Formats: sequence, C-alpha cells, structure tokens
Amino acid sequence: MRILYVEDNATNVILVQRVANMGKHEVINYDNGQDALDKFDEIKPDLILLDVQLRGPLTGLDVARILRERSCQLPILAVTAYAMKGDRQRCLDAGCDDYLPKPISVAELVTVFKRYGDAVTSGKPILSTYKPSPVVGAAAPDNPAAPQPNIEIVPVSVPVEAAPAVEAVPAAAPVAVVVSLVETPAVTTPPIEPVAQQTPTPINVEP
Ligand code: MN
Repeated sequence: MRILYVEDNATNVILVQRVANMGKHEVINYDNGQDALDKFDEIKPDLILLDVQLRGPLTGLDVARILRERSCQLPILAVTAYAMKGDRQRCLDAGCDDYLPKPISVAELVTVFKRYGDAVTSGKPILSTYKPSPVVGAAAPDNPAAPQPNIEIVPVSVPVEAAPAVEAVPAAAPVAVVVSLVETPAVTTPPIEPVAQQTPTPINVEP
C-alpha cells in the first residue's frame, strides 16, 4: 500500500520508511501540511500518518480536518509526542481514526501496517471510522446514499421545581410533544472531560 506520512522529523521518516519497506509498503513524505494537501490527489495514498507538530502554519490536526472537509474517507493516524490526557480525543475530534504516541514503537507500526496493508491487498481497504458530530439544526447532507432523518416524538416533561403554580396555568393546555429531526444513525458524543485551560507542555519537544 502507499502511505502518506506528513512529518518534519527526518529520524521518524527514516524509521517509518524502514518498517514500511519490511512490509513492501511505499512511503511518500512531506514535511509540511500544505504540500501534502496540494499533492494529495496525485499521491492516492491508502493510509495517512500525520505528525501533529509540523513546519508551516498547518498542524497535522489541521490537515486531518481539511481532508475530512474534502470528504476523505481514508484512515488517518495521528503520530504525536503529546502524551497528555485529552490529546487522543483531540486527534479523534479533528478527524483522525487513532493516535500513535512518539517515540514510535516499531512493533506497533508493524501491526498497524499489516492490518491496513492486508486489507488493501485483499481489495477491501479499511475505511475511516470517523463520523463528524451532527450539527444541531443542520440540513440533511445532499447525498442520496445518506440515511434520511427520522422524525422522533419527544414528550416534554416539565421539571417539578419549574412547574408554575396552579393559578398561573393558562387556560389553553401547552403542547405536550415536540417533533425534532434526528439524524440516523445517532452519533453520541462522549462528554468532554474538563481539562486544565492552559496548553500542556509536550513531554518530548521536537527540535
Ligand atoms: Mn514534527
């Protein structure tokens, strides 16, 4: 398979190239996000690895977001020295499928390349599992293959403490149900854990 690896650290590029060569995979490297995006249609990769801290104005997560905006469904793995709580979720939110911590584990790379490479060889490549969070009130995507929204009837319950006093109830009974449009399948976003506001200092700062 062909792997697009956006990485500005030559040592990591050499390591990934060596592991990829063991599995007869090809690595195309760019050291900045813009070049990778500009050349993306020509590269036709099967798998994308994105270093998070890159040269130039775009981070690896910016590249992931832009590729998803362009409807890219390829698997994207972030490769990052960040090892702070919440960073994995940040990568997933940007559109990545997973996150490989630095220093890169050769054994993990071998496993990852075999998994995706075998799927490509079999003619059934693994597509990204990334699904963007539904935007409340957004129209259904203009795509005939997309699932149509369901109409769901949600009963309105008035919290006891918020219930008005009896004498304040208006003569007309309030409407008991609302109809809302819900995308199918519903995507549940896990609750975001509160994280300290200041940007965490990466444990391993790259040169
Ligand atoms: Mn970097």
